[in-house]
Amino acid sequence: MNDEIISLAKQFRFNVLKNGDFAVGGELSNEDFLLELLRSEARFRDEKATAERLKQAQFPSFKGFDDFDTEFQKGVTRKQLQTLEKLDWLDALFNLILIGPPGTGKTHIALAIGNKAAREGFKVSFISMDNLIHVLKTAEISRKSQTRINWIKKCDLLIIDELGFLPVSRVEANKFFSLISELYEKTSVIITSNKGFDGWAELLGDAVLATALLDRLTHRCQILNLTGDSYRLVHRKNVF
Ligand code: ADP
Ligand code: MG
Repeated sequence: MNDEIISLAKQFRFNVLKNGDFAVGGELSNEDFLLELLRSEARFRDEKATAERLKQAQFPSFKGFDDFDTEFQKGVTRKQLQTLEKLDWLDALFNLILIGPPGTGKTHIALAIGNKAAREGFKVSFISMDNLIHVLKTAEISRKSQTRINWIKKCDLLIIDELGFLPVSRVEANKFFSLISELYEKTSVIITSNKGFDGWAELLGDAVLATALLDRLTHRCQILNLTGDSYRLVHRKNVF
């Protein structure tokens, strides 16, 4: 390809041209050629942005809606999963709280939603409660934590996994509350927890704070109670 085209493509950050490998087959009118070129650049940018959102989300693994067995887990119906998958509730700034014992699919559902959302253009952040507390506590002294918090505050969906495994101190509970207050009515939040709401008050060590937190979180919220045995235990795999 002509050197000047390549140089101009670089100047204008026109990705599909700057490598000199854009080609269309057949005879095209000027208009059709331009259309193909712009479509190709739009596709390239879309794919790059999606890959970047998936990276920023920091999902620990991939889980899909289709792999979720609603025969095994009776706490959620296929129809409810389909409604969650449509993501309209994210546009309406709803929250989702998934409560249930270990292995009942809470993280699975949260990851399936997160993945779909990131692919559809939502900015998503997945973080365990322990790590979130760590990041909140170290934001002032660690650039990495600061960057994470900044991203979380820009997100459309924050997924907080495993609230309730470790107790939190009063200072930590306050920092967590401040973050949730700041995100209130701006960002959808998904929380997975092995504890019911009574357990949250105990965990946060402050009933007033827990009530204020739940007030914000549950104002526009869907709560799913997952039940039954651990999928991990029932589908345990052995080496022998
Ligand atoms: P939790 O977060 O509730 O502890 P997970 O979502 O991590 O549980 O589930 C544990 C494992 O079992 C994961 O690998 C998950 O994909 C799988 N799993 C759990 N429930 C189901 C289900 N109903 N259908 C298919 N896989 C499931
Ligand atoms: Mg989990």
